[in-house]
Amino acid sequence: MSAAGGGRFDADTVVSEGSWDAARAATGSVLTGVDLALTGATPRSFCAVRPPGHHAVADRAMGFCIFGSVAVAARYARSRHGLDRVLIVDWDVHHGNGTQALVESDAGIHFVSMHQWPWYPGTGPASDRGPHGNVWNVPMAGGLAPETYMDALRTAADAATRGFTPDLVLVSAGFDCLAGDPLGGFTLEPEHLAELTTWLVARAEDWCGGRVVSALEGGYAPDRVATAAVEHLKALAA
Ligand SMILES: [Zn+2]
Repeated sequence: MSAAGGGRFDADTVVSEGSWDAARAATGSVLTGVDLALTGATPRSFCAVRPPGHHAVADRAMGFCIFGSVAVAARYARSRHGLDRVLIVDWDVHHGNGTQALVESDAGIHFVSMHQWPWYPGTGPASDRGPHGNVWNVPMAGGLAPETYMDALRTAADAATRGFTPDLVLVSAGFDCLAGDPLGGFTLEPEHLAELTTWLVARAEDWCGGRVVSALEGGYAPDRVATAAVEHLKALAA
């Protein structure tokens, strides 16, 4: 880090003098989404934010991420709004290691992460369930049929909500799970993410009045991210 406010936290994580404000605004956007959902103003929102957050841990930026926005939002929903149960679904192609690290000590938060394996950052085997068994890691090979990923994610979300009815659903919407992403090997298309979103919204309608707050995570083919984000947003708004 330089005195001018720029530099690198690690080989991947470059910051400029604008990064502090951007990272604060990214996390603040997700907290605002939580507030809007829980005050009844709007049950669902999508936060088109940068930087992403799900690799950041408590004391360290990592993997393009500075603050763990979705994890902070889950903790905020618990502490500020007094929610008993929060579900986080992370479909970014990389393991949400930071989110797991920030929420696994809280059994009132259930975390589902589907990610390519073996892949960056090297964490997230299925055997890692967290100290309270509130983590569902779903490591997957690249190059499988889209339906295989969708089924795996839905199965894990079903398992994570058995006997645990969420009061709020948070989504780490990484669009590097799309086919053709330069940093991932999954095969999903925007329509598949729309279908997953619709499925999750329907579940959220049963659980908690349809409260879903989604935040952009990774995604490195900009045209594809844009298309998928619009499809995701339309499914959230339906
Ligand atoms: Zn990613």
